[in-house]
Amino acid sequence: MQPELTRGVVYAEAGGPVAVEPILVGPPAAGEVLVRVEASGVCHTDVHVVESGGWAMRFPILLGHEGAGVVEAVGDEVTSVAPGDRVVIAWRAPCGECDACRRGEPRRCGSTRRRATRPRRADGTDLSPVLGTGTFTEWCVVHESCAVPVDLPPEQACLLACGVMTGVGAALWATPVRPGSSVAVIGCGGVGLSVVQGARIAGAQRIVAIDVAPDKLERALALGATEAVDAADAESIEPVEYAFSVVGAPAALAQAVRLLDYGGTATLVGVPPSGGRLDIDLERDLFHRKAAIRVTHGGDSVPQEDFPELARLAAVGELELASMVTREIGLDEVPEALATPLGAGEIRTVVCL
Ligand SMILES: [Zn+2]
Ligand SMILES: [Zn+2]
Repeated sequence: MQPELTRGVVYAEAGGPVAVEPILVGPPAAGEVLVRVEASGVCHTDVHVVESGGWAMRFPILLGHEGAGVVEAVGDEVTSVAPGDRVVIAWRAPCGECDACRRGEPRRCGSTRRRATRPRRADGTDLSPVLGTGTFTEWCVVHESCAVPVDLPPEQACLLACGVMTGVGAALWATPVRPGSSVAVIGCGGVGLSVVQGARIAGAQRIVAIDVAPDKLERALALGATEAVDAADAESIEPVEYAFSVVGAPAALAQAVRLLDYGGTATLVGVPPSGGRLDIDLERDLFHRKAAIRVTHGGDSVPQEDFPELARLAAVGELELASMVTREIGLDEVPEALATPLGAGEIRTVVCL
């Protein structure tokens, strides 16, 4: 049974500490689902929320947005999931009502946050859950459309909620990579490695992994990259049709554009810093190359379709998930994990409950 009081990782004020504290969750209202969280990945966006002083969200903030678990209760009118279902918690859920959704392009939906009953601090104050989910907690209430049944071990399933979906989705669905084509991936952490995997699944012939860390380049080669290049030598790379900037830094996107062959597409995947500016030569880099620049949010996912497809790819061995999880921790260790950069060889830390 759901306890009235549970625990969550709360960032209470800008510049203040991140701490595990008692919180109040649920019960689920009509159209909502109560999930007992089993696993939640530590995605860099949570680090960004803390480092940017709240990412323009209202305080106090409940952190975590890459979760998976088991449905324990459903509100009235819920039809797509039932208690006992294992689900991945999606932070994107196309609305079905906007112009993009009605013309059959839900990946372009700009209204993808489904609100649910907010979690509260023990004193009753509303918490703002990161990306509408807030999964660094033992229990979580989400809109029905954000609970997607997937049958995978929870510590792997949670990766589909953000990092893997963002990277694989960038190459498969946001900027569909053409079979036989050439791809460059700038930044080979968990998301970048997922772009590499997406490009391989799409059938790219040449996949160039670019990073400053030799251990990440090694991982990239193991997951499908055909070339590994130190970021300092990126100017020597043969031009590519698709370049993905998984790093949010403006210089990385500028580099992605400069790597393009004629008619190529650069895609911004990483979250850029507030106020970041793109410094490219419009004539040489953009016009003469006839380059396109695109942006993806979380792989432009349609979770109800994409999560089961990613789980299928994992089941048949095309998508590698197990080796992406390099460390498992408990809820109490989250504040320290958010404050500590990943060490050599580490890809994803997952909170297991
Ligand atoms: Zn929509
Ligand atoms: Zn994320």
